[in-house]
Amino acid sequence: MKINSECVSITQSENLAVVTLKNPPVNALSKAVRVGLLEALDAALANNDVDAIVITSALPLFSAGADISEFAGGNLSPMLPEVLNRIESSPKPVIAAVSGNAFGGGLELALSCHYRASFKGNKVGLPEVHLGILPGAGGTQRLPRLVDAKTALDMIVSGAPTPVVKLGGVFDVIVDSVDELLAGATTLAADAVQKGPRPVSDIELSSTPETAALLDGYAQQVAAKTRGFFAPLKCVEAVKAAYDLRFSEGLNKEAELFMQCMQTEQARAQQHFFFAERAAGQVPGLSKEAGVRDIKNVAIIGAGTMGGGIAMNFANAGIPVKMLELKAEALDKGLSVIRRNYENSAKKGKLTQEQVEQRMSLLTGTTQYDDLSDADLVIEAVFEKMSVKKEVFTQLDAVCKPGAILASNTSTLDINEIAACTSRPEDVIGLHFFSPANVMKLLEIVRADKTSDEVIKTSMKLAKTIRKVGVLVGVCFGFVGNRMIEVYGREANRLMLEGATPEQVDKVIMQLGMPMGPFTMGDMAGLDIGYFVRQSRKAFIEHDPSYCVVADELVEAGRAGLKVGKGVYLYEPGNRKPIPDPEVMEIAARKAKELGIEQREISDQEILERCIYPLINEGANILKEGIAMRASDIDVIYVYGYGFPVFRGGPMQYADEIGLDNVLARMKYYQENLGEYGKHWFEPSELLQELVESKQTFASLNK
Ligand code: NAD
Repeated sequence: MKINSECVSITQSENLAVVTLKNPPVNALSKAVRVGLLEALDAALANNDVDAIVITSALPLFSAGADISEFAGGNLSPMLPEVLNRIESSPKPVIAAVSGNAFGGGLELALSCHYRASFKGNKVGLPEVHLGILPGAGGTQRLPRLVDAKTALDMIVSGAPTPVVKLGGVFDVIVDSVDELLAGATTLAADAVQKGPRPVSDIELSSTPETAALLDGYAQQVAAKTRGFFAPLKCVEAVKAAYDLRFSEGLNKEAELFMQCMQTEQARAQQHFFFAERAAGQVPGLSKEAGVRDIKNVAIIGAGTMGGGIAMNFANAGIPVKMLELKAEALDKGLSVIRRNYENSAKKGKLTQEQVEQRMSLLTGTTQYDDLSDADLVIEAVFEKMSVKKEVFTQLDAVCKPGAILASNTSTLDINEIAACTSRPEDVIGLHFFSPANVMKLLEIVRADKTSDEVIKTSMKLAKTIRKVGVLVGVCFGFVGNRMIEVYGREANRLMLEGATPEQVDKVIMQLGMPMGPFTMGDMAGLDIGYFVRQSRKAFIEHDPSYCVVADELVEAGRAGLKVGKGVYLYEPGNRKPIPDPEVMEIAARKAKELGIEQREISDQEILERCIYPLINEGANILKEGIAMRASDIDVIYVYGYGFPVFRGGPMQYADEIGLDNVLARMKYYQENLGEYGKHWFEPSELLQELVESKQTFASLNK
């Protein structure tokens, strides 16, 4: 048997045709693979010596599913559903030997086969929901025919990978290891030859009162849990169709719901984000000769809020960490906070007690810089003050071995200035973690003027080792994330002066899909943090007498936020629920009067535009200055660092979606209509204007 395909091969082994997929890197089911699969099927069916067909993979994974680059369109025939229906209706039995992860279309391919074999330790899943869509090649109709409704719903709605050992209904044979899979599949094939084809679509499925109730309850839970997302509820609807309709009608319903999802802004946004995240890992222009340094042990200076969280990331990855504080008490306190965090995870069943001890055993403390001489990487997380940072880096320069990477977790300070106080600025970099550092996925990797390519490459790889998403940025005040959030916070505060209540502003931002509004976020982070930053940036804000004046008064009155039970909102002890406080609006009214600002009713639309458009505009400035390499990097920073809704793809994708001309027009409108304030703060970015003039988008910049 011979077919004309570069990604699918067919061989004969006794009475079996073995069809092998080989489309590196992930066996995406691109058009060439689909054509190859049909050719292989036809060849096997035409061969009288073949009694059964085994489909497997030559790569470490079975298939990661659809080729997402095909979502852009083109002549895609034959489409996957058609190919899978052909496989399912084969008169000779077809067996999937699932020799590695099978995701999305990959699992749907296996489900279209008549029998399935895999091995312990393997995982499969239907992650389409993460792309704003649902499995569109029969997955929502076939999976419920093989597993109970709850399992099918969990897999399709969460998109999470599921161990094959939990899917006994899907897999006829689960061998111990992948090495035994071919033998297992061959035995299964012999059995299949006896029993004949066994299409999943032949399985009768009808709704019982229990499944109907389960589906209803599930839909309600999903609606509450996935606030703002469109696809998860459509996934539930598709699974429901498997129970309510005949198979062929169910497939039609699935196709209809798939198209509904595919045409949404959300699907575009989530697919954009999928590529954005992958692009962020690529740094063009680094020297090919530059190697990656080994990071076998780490030191952290400062065992406070951030130092402790950062240390946990390394201990979780099995990398030993030495923590340095100047005083033994501070060290003990830091280590005990980490232990308490781990113990809490153990109480919730996320870790075993043994894992807690194992992680704690990787964490040691010292008060002596000399003890850091063997560290491969040192991360400084001391007070946010240049003089303290310089002291620390001078000491590190004196004791650390050559080739050690010296990193700072500063949120705002100039890494070039820090690097300049060492004799090895090429080894100095910013590693900006987000709080809580053991939870937040984002790592801004800040390249200073002299940082070497080797140090950048090592840091990018390190992000992956500790399961963060690393995004390379340049040096400026606040880097990418905090520089943009400053604008947003400023506008929220100004809106309060102009008459909007904190709860109105927070509600509008929540409706956009952010997990919380700017005032709740400020209270949580501590209003004093912003206050100290403002104190050190008088020159930046001196032209604006209204700049965060209400927040300043609150901090000066001891209202530093959630940690003291009162900030912009009030809090009951032990409760994080913000309670509006009329006194704050009285302060705002008094300040507004003093400043000659007329208070008025402000529409939700104005709040949205004034908080988000300047943030986008600042993103454009950042791009123009080269502080971020790509608009999509900014999106990754905002989704992983600030909870910007992934269904909007990030602020820059959101701007593309609403139209850059609209953003520009509204920036100009506010520039002209908010007096001196507008003139200063609503200056449209040059890049935004250029893009509008040339009818381009942020996304088009990297094409
Ligand atoms: P923190 O006050 O909780 O911790 C700082 C720790 O450093 C304290 O334990 C202190 O004893 C120790 N320390 C101070 N000077 C030292 C020195 N010379 N040598 C050794 N230890 C010293 O502060 P934090 O919130 O963890 O912030 C630390 C750094 O992380 C700052 O640069 C901050 O800007 C940055 N950062 C903070 C956040 C956040 O949300 N808290 C987020 C990102 C980055």
